[in-house]
Amino acid sequence: MAKGLLNKNNNNKLSELGKAETKTMNAYCEDYKSFLDRAKTEREFAHEAQKYLEENGFKPLDAADKLKPGDRVYTINRGKGVLAAVIGREDITEGVSIVGAHIDSPRLDLKPNPLYEDGHFAYFKTHYYGGIKKYQWTTVPLSLHGVATLEDGTQIKISIGEKDGDPTFMVTDLLPHLAKDQMQKKLSEAIPGESLNIILGNAEFSGDIKDDETKEKVKYNILNLLHDKYDIREEDFISSEIEAVPAYKAKDLGFDRSMVAAYGHDDRVCAFGAMRAVAALKRPAYTAVCLLVDKEEIGSVGNTGMRSRYFENTMAKIVDKRVEDYSDLKLRETISNSVCLSADVCAAFDPGFPDTVEKNNIPVINGGIGVMKYSGSGGKSGASDANAELMAKLRKIFNDADVKWQIAELGKVDGGGGGTIAGFVANLDIEVVDVGVPLLSMHSPYETAGKLDIYMAYKAYKAFFER
Ligand code: MN
Ligand code: MN
Repeated sequence: MAKGLLNKNNNNKLSELGKAETKTMNAYCEDYKSFLDRAKTEREFAHEAQKYLEENGFKPLDAADKLKPGDRVYTINRGKGVLAAVIGREDITEGVSIVGAHIDSPRLDLKPNPLYEDGHFAYFKTHYYGGIKKYQWTTVPLSLHGVATLEDGTQIKISIGEKDGDPTFMVTDLLPHLAKDQMQKKLSEAIPGESLNIILGNAEFSGDIKDDETKEKVKYNILNLLHDKYDIREEDFISSEIEAVPAYKAKDLGFDRSMVAAYGHDDRVCAFGAMRAVAALKRPAYTAVCLLVDKEEIGSVGNTGMRSRYFENTMAKIVDKRVEDYSDLKLRETISNSVCLSADVCAAFDPGFPDTVEKNNIPVINGGIGVMKYSGSGGKSGASDANAELMAKLRKIFNDADVKWQIAELGKVDGGGGGTIAGFVANLDIEVVDVGVPLLSMHSPYETAGKLDIYMAYKAYKAFFER
């Protein structure tokens, strides 16, 4: 009788990991949790990644002359993206190995003119960023992160609400006693976007209001406090990027500590794995590229998103430093011979919502990293459907390296859908497939991932880089 006829993937278990590797997994997850607490926005992630890369021997790309196998270089894209590379032994025009993840997450952004007073409260008006269920973002402790850039270019970093002793911030909600009408509304309409206003204070300014005529003393008090703490004025908000994010710390989830609950697993869980994997390499055959981009949650737009020419321009610099006679053809060959894992999270099976998925093609928590051949919605619309040839190569890489993996599809046919950076990578004439960590409660203020899957992201990306 023939053996090995059955596909054993989508059947992995946490208990199958040996003792030594379980220890490695747990240590990796501790590092991940503390990194998450320090990197709650794309700017903070890029900053922390730069520190990590420098500690691990990476040098600024622009400072490098000619590149040789084993060289480690990085660039930062406008403080919000990262490209880190370890130069391979092969001719670079044979292509590079890319693991691309995004480091932006859904949140509440401050509007350009955010500060106002109403009913003796001071508030920030917000414009939510990414696909959120708005009702989830009320009565959640929020912290504020970002930068204010002054007219002379001075940049002031803002991070408040994370440390013990810091104040917290919040969007209020209506008490159930008076919510008779609200409770009849659809979930999508019960909390309108314009009601996501962050409460800042209630105390009046007690001194003399000298320079401005205003009756809004609570707002004026907040402006004074902001001026004392950050040396900023109301007009400076116009050149600021301040994000309100959940103030929760990343924590083990459950008595058995088999999962991690955190804000922003999507997609820092894959970005962290990609960063750790590229740094673990010595002299790979193919040049390894860890690409961390911004703006995925709003369509990969802008010059820090995947649709920007940043990737091609940076590759041009790398190719120029790696080959004898640079030409556009050599750059084009390098790009079109490249292979990419679009490292992004996928939806895991949630027993609370079994009817939204199809059980043979949904990944489970702690079943290994999810390989998603296609995403899209309503008949694969908008999907980058990975080629069977690439899927075959990937199976071999993962099986040979003992990576626990499972197949993933984004829910039921006609059930909804979504996309990743994969489609934009594919547009560059690159072989690409989505490979990422399955999550529960994706895009909520507190998402859940399994420890086996968090660790397998690293192991999978490293095995791919070492192809
Ligand atoms: Mn994502
Ligand atoms: Mn997302």
